[in-house]
Amino acid sequence: MRIKRVAALAAVAALSIGMAACGDNGDGGGAGEAKSFAAGSTMEKLNKAQKIRVGTKFDQPGFGQKGLSGKPEGFDVEIAKIIAKDLGIPESKIEWVEAPSKVREDVIEQDKVDMVVATYTINDKRKERIAFAGPYYEAGQNIMVRKDDSSITGPDSFADGTKKVCSVTGSTPAEEIKKHVKDVASQVVLFDTYDKCRDALKGKQVDAVTTDNVILLGYIAKDEASFKMAGDNFTKEPYGIGVKKDDTAFRNFINDTLEKSFSDGSWKKAWDDTAGKFGATLGAAPTVNRY
Ligand code: GLU
Repeated sequence: MRIKRVAALAAVAALSIGMAACGDNGDGGGAGEAKSFAAGSTMEKLNKAQKIRVGTKFDQPGFGQKGLSGKPEGFDVEIAKIIAKDLGIPESKIEWVEAPSKVREDVIEQDKVDMVVATYTINDKRKERIAFAGPYYEAGQNIMVRKDDSSITGPDSFADGTKKVCSVTGSTPAEEIKKHVKDVASQVVLFDTYDKCRDALKGKQVDAVTTDNVILLGYIAKDEASFKMAGDNFTKEPYGIGVKKDDTAFRNFINDTLEKSFSDGSWKKAWDDTAGKFGATLGAAPTVNRY
């Protein structure tokens, strides 16, 4: 009994030393904080470990893009930091894992990440494998073309079978555009990341890139001399945070955190500091869907 108590005290002491060591070390990480969560919950596990693995994009300006700092930057990255902070984990303890569109369900199922924040549209097909907190933003599919091209004005411009359009494997826009082309095999070009589509458009191997408006706006902002948008959004893409399918407690926790961020100004600040600089609008805070 006595030994047990001593061991318990030692564990508490070790935890507080660990927390102190997490103090702000000048990289904006902030301090870790021991918080009490339901025993056995993902929140308790992550808080105790003082570490969280976040799947995000590394090539999407405004949402998740790895720059010279070596760490990704963008709206998704800021949303992940807000959630980590609510878990008592400083941003310096977030491990960023690149999660291109087609691997997002895989990395959640295989426990390679604790959550995915990666321009990730909530839909029923994905919900068969994973669960979504959110939405925290609503984007819409659009088309980007070369600046000097006025022949493409919307998805119907692919109906005559002459134009090639690029998107990313495993994305909702890749599936949607197939409904608008005459011949999928010759017209739809798929890569694993959007920066490859952007390069193919610039290099004239394809005539357009299609994905969410906000991703395209990021590319246009970085190279306005080369690219422009062609038309209006033609789908709705509500962005959610992917977690394990049966982890309802963690999903509820993230939904609570998102709702707090909508009202305390941190969600809007995250947007204004990132994607908000590229001409997209934030709109009113969405209603989270606690299914
Ligand atoms: N939001 C869409 C999706 O989840 C397109 C963006 C992306 O591929 O990340 O598939």
